[in-house]
Amino acid sequence: MLDKNKPGPGHSSEGRDLSGRTIVITGGAGFLGSHLCRHHLEAGARVLCVDNLSTGRLRNIEDLLEGHDFKFVKHDIIDPYEPGEAIDYIFNMACPASPPKYQLHPIRTFDTSVRGSHNLLELAMRRGARILQASTSEVYGDPAVSPQAEDYRGNVVTMGPRACYDEGKRAAETLFYEYNHLHKVDTRVARIFNTYGPAMDPEDGRVVSNFIVQALQGHDLTVYGDGTQTRSFCYVDDLVAGLMALMYTEGDLADPVNLGNPVEFTILELADLVLAETGSTSALKHLDLPKDDPKIRRPNIEHARDALGWEPHVPLIEGIRRTIPYFAAEIAQSAKAQV
Ligand code: UDP
Repeated sequence: MLDKNKPGPGHSSEGRDLSGRTIVITGGAGFLGSHLCRHHLEAGARVLCVDNLSTGRLRNIEDLLEGHDFKFVKHDIIDPYEPGEAIDYIFNMACPASPPKYQLHPIRTFDTSVRGSHNLLELAMRRGARILQASTSEVYGDPAVSPQAEDYRGNVVTMGPRACYDEGKRAAETLFYEYNHLHKVDTRVARIFNTYGPAMDPEDGRVVSNFIVQALQGHDLTVYGDGTQTRSFCYVDDLVAGLMALMYTEGDLADPVNLGNPVEFTILELADLVLAETGSTSALKHLDLPKDDPKIRRPNIEHARDALGWEPHVPLIEGIRRTIPYFAAEIAQSAKAQV
């Protein structure tokens, strides 16, 4: 239970003191979740990392496992979770997020967002914990306006290969709204735009990981469609700072907040950048554009700037430079494992 007498956490991600607080991070072995685990341990918190390891990887947290303040719980949030200790905050980061991964088991993906969120909201209500939902820019579907602000209602489909993820996340937002209104649960909803960086699975299937791994291995870069579709890529450190700010800023912040980098690139521009930064001579190979692939995506982050004093600082070129050595090490490691 949140003890209102304990000193409140500070405002910025750096220097925040969360000692004495216990944080549940579902999806804690995943890309964003594992970064959140580290940030919280650095801030002095106790971390309960919950993950069913469907797309999360023990590799992302193996150096944390021996720590006093870190507990790994292998659990699927589709089933209720009852920690055996008091908790203060819950980050719900659990759900496969890469299209080829979330489309492998579409009904599980939908249930993870809907039943999983429902279970965690019940937990938050019982324990008086604040809860943050990792929502997504996918709630805007294939947007007809640019940039996308939080009041844009989206251009969405209920029946299609992406709907298991998009509609599951939309329904989860509805559950967050109702638990906040009906049951006064302290809720936060982050609409996360494309994010990249160390701890991504090299086989994740998303564009940044695919391009860097392909470039480093001398394979053709797989451009889906003509490559003129756009995305706005946020470096993981910036995104995690936004999530921390959203969780630990006091006030009524139940409305959704876009978190992402508003600088937009075409997929062809990203390919050129990756080739230049890796020094690779790989060619581009055009493949079919997947069904319902959004043509554009770019966040309006005015709300995050105003409410949280947050904005991203790492330009794409800098983030790609920081990410390449991570994937190079992952490739070397898996080559060693195969010998
Ligand atoms: N994409 C691509 N090559 C790849 C993987 C993805 O051209 O190897 C494209 C994809 O079609 C989409 C964009 O890159 O237009 C971003 O895809 P990603 O899967 O990274 O994220 P999302 O579609 O969920 O934004």
